[in-house]
Amino acid sequence: MGIKWKLFLAFLLSTTILAFIIIVLSSELPKGLFIASSAIILIISLLINYFVLQRIISPVADIIKGASAISEGNFTHRIRIDTRDELKELSEILNEMSEEFKKRMDEMDEDKARLSTILSTMSEGLLAIDCKGNILLANSVLSEMFGFKGTSVIGRSYLEIIRHNQLNDIIREVLKERQNVIREIEQFFPEERYFAVYASVAEGIKEGGVCAVFIFHDITKIKRLERIRKDFVANVSHELRTPLTSIKGYTEALIDGVIDDSNKAKEFLNIISNHTERLNNILTDLLQLSYIESGQYKPKASNINLRTAVEKAVALLKTNIEKKGFAIDIQVPEGLIVAADEDKLNLAFVNLIDNAIKYTPEKGRIGIKAEARGKEVMVSVSDTGIGIPKEDLARIFERFYRVDKDRSSELGGTGLGLSIVKHIIDAHGGRVWAESELNKGSSFYFTLPPSP
Ligand code: ADP
Repeated sequence: MGIKWKLFLAFLLSTTILAFIIIVLSSELPKGLFIASSAIILIISLLINYFVLQRIISPVADIIKGASAISEGNFTHRIRIDTRDELKELSEILNEMSEEFKKRMDEMDEDKARLSTILSTMSEGLLAIDCKGNILLANSVLSEMFGFKGTSVIGRSYLEIIRHNQLNDIIREVLKERQNVIREIEQFFPEERYFAVYASVAEGIKEGGVCAVFIFHDITKIKRLERIRKDFVANVSHELRTPLTSIKGYTEALIDGVIDDSNKAKEFLNIISNHTERLNNILTDLLQLSYIESGQYKPKASNINLRTAVEKAVALLKTNIEKKGFAIDIQVPEGLIVAADEDKLNLAFVNLIDNAIKYTPEKGRIGIKAEARGKEVMVSVSDTGIGIPKEDLARIFERFYRVDKDRSSELGGTGLGLSIVKHIIDAHGGRVWAESELNKGSSFYFTLPPSP
């Protein structure tokens, strides 16, 4: 039975008793007057009942309405009661409570928004799990790293979501041992990636609360650079060892007596001289490359007349061009100006034209063209030489990459020329690429910014 009915019955009972007493006391009255007065007293008591009840019930109803608004999360609703009693006090307490709730909820919303911004702008992946291995939090970077983008993961076991054996082993270990760990894991699908995983165990763990937090750094780039560095050291050592071994062998042979045979000695000394020259070439190229690559190198751009630059490079290689009977066709418009570092541009041209000479049989043709194309100037160096197989084309700009190692070494190549060209053009903000057809010839292209 509701409070309304309880009050109603209590009032009804009390007024009926009161009316009964009055009626009994006035029982001396004549019958007609007695009935009329009884009826009037009853009606008056009912009316009083009704008005008194209204005064009590309506604020209670307001309070109930206000309380249910709060329970539904409507913290802007205010209870307004104009009586001056305990109900008014209760309504004021409820209003204050609602205001306090609103303040707390606003603070929580702000905290949530802040956390969500941090999580979404983090470059690291983040995973928080409880001690049973259920996911409590996972940011979008993590879902991209482990390919569960778009899946709702909160509340689900990490075993269901993360399909990575190494990582699952780490999570299992952390949950079991309750110890912080730092590990590296690798991923091979859909692409090769490496992650450093930092796992921290939470303190004062509560039932269903955060047990461990895992942060994931993508270290793929660092790993790649590490591998490049290792390969580079291995390549350099290998490149230097070949001429050094020869020099050592021939020198020892000379010491052991070949020096007395003047013809043989001359031949051996020539070989030693060639290998020394080769060592010198490798070291010069390596120094050039390491300088351009180091980040210290910033092209000292000045306005360069492209035709003059091409003619200068061709002049430097004149002897080789003439030796092989090449026809050189230069198609560079007069007055085409580019913004470039003169020395480095010369080095790029010399490397490309030298390659064209090296890899083109006698009486071949070399063409050098340049034209302004939109916002850049495009330059090409073409030859009618041996060409480059399709499968090697993408790799020829890598350090020490050579299609035919023996042929390159025989021709005095170091495997670094195109790598130097690429770095020079990159530093100028241009692009470089090659096209080739086996036994027909190759074309090397690069772009440069025009003079401002
Ligand atoms: P290298 O000192 O061996 O010439 P580069 O870095 O200049 O080294 O060139 C890398 C490789 O690309 C060469 O060894 C050669 O196999 C190939 N290559 C470069 N230029 C040409 C070209 N014009 N024609 C055919 N092959 C070329």
